This record gives sequence, C-alpha cells and structure tokens, in this order.
Amino acid sequence: MAGNPRNGRRYRTLCAWLRAQHLPCWLCGREIGYELDARHPLSFTLDHLVPLSRGGQLLDPANARAAHRRCNSSRGNRARPSPTVAPQRASRRW
Ligand SMILES: [Zn+2]
Repeated sequence: MAGNPRNGRRYRTLCAWLRAQHLPCWLCGREIGYELDARHPLSFTLDHLVPLSRGGQLLDPANARAAHRRCNSSRGNRARPSPTVAPQRASRRW
C-alpha cells in the first residue's frame, strides 16, 4: 500500500461517517464535543476497537469507534486498559 492511508479519501469518509452519528465516547461513555476545535481534549477522534498495532483494520467501520481526543491518547499511552474500560468487555462478543 502506497502512502499514508490516514490521509486517504476512504479514511476521511470513515471519519465523517462516524462523526455524523454523534455517538458518545466509547472509552468513558460521555458525550463528545463534536462542535469543538480538533485540538480540544474533548473533541472527536476516530479510535480503533482493535489497535492497528494488533492487526486492527484502519478502514473497517466495524473497527471504528468515536472517542474523545483525551481518552484516545491516554489509552494509546497505557500498556493495559484502565478499569473504566473493563465493563464494556461484557457486551462484546469474541
Ligand atoms: Zn472519553
């Protein structure tokens, strides 16, 4: 695959599709400030259910989740999931 797929049209389309749903943050369950500036910690970011580093698909809508910028980056910096994320495992099918 050539180039950075995050700059691609399909990735931007996926972002717009997810953004339009106005879902709460999948990490903390609170509403996301969809109208906020992209640099705001509570603004919308596209997160991935299965991290790309673990084989998750960048462009798969089923792997895309809405998250706060703050939650997305703090999750990425942690080696293991925080306790607040754990309850969501119950509703997940493996
Ligand atoms: Zn959040």
